[in-house]
Amino acid sequence: MARPSREERYQELCDALEAAGLKLTNQRRAICAALASMTTHPTVYEVHEYLRTYHPTVSRATVYNTLTALRDLGLVAEIGPAGDGAMHYELNPDPHLNLVCVRCHRIVDLPGSQLQLDSLVRNSGFRVTGARLALYGYCPSCQRQLGWAVEQASPAADPFAAEPAGHPPAGANGQGSPNGPGAGGKPAHRVPAQVLLRAAARRSPIKLRMRSRPS
Ligand SMILES: [Zn+2]
Ligand SMILES: [Zn+2]
Repeated sequence: MARPSREERYQELCDALEAAGLKLTNQRRAICAALASMTTHPTVYEVHEYLRTYHPTVSRATVYNTLTALRDLGLVAEIGPAGDGAMHYELNPDPHLNLVCVRCHRIVDLPGSQLQLDSLVRNSGFRVTGARLALYGYCPSCQRQLGWAVEQASPAADPFAAEPAGHPPAGANGQGSPNGPGAGGKPAHRVPAQVLLRAAARRSPIKLRMRSRPS
């Protein structure tokens, strides 16, 4: 089962909100487009940061409420604590294993785990509708910083390599943090998200709808 395309996923999220009786406002569309584009395991703060450049009017509360609605509908899942005091969300609908670094709090999908799980479950007759699987430990970069020897086939095998370093300040989890947006945020964290969103906006027809504003 291949992960749905960004456009398919965007449509799936929008359809689910509408079917649940929620009005599909431009703000909710923008949030769905962001969730369909992001490949990380973001917090409310990170989704809000991701949207901020293009949709400065979307509030963190709206991001939180939309994520909560999608969670209740089973379209995104909450991942257990990553040690940073913030709730992280799973956006990849296919069951897979997550690797959680307890030091830098980054979370990545373990490459290949989806296929392995598929083949493990395939003959059991069990119909999988979701999963919350995580291994906790130290990413290669944190191990090096601690002076530990890293057991790794090659640096290219590091699934954390593609994940931006840095994380939001403690307490910036979208539930009433007094910090202004970006307070304590690291440019190293924000820049990749903006670059991704800009690139996505250029390529995908979704983003044209995302950019439309009520007249
Ligand atoms: Zn780490
Ligand atoms: Zn994941």
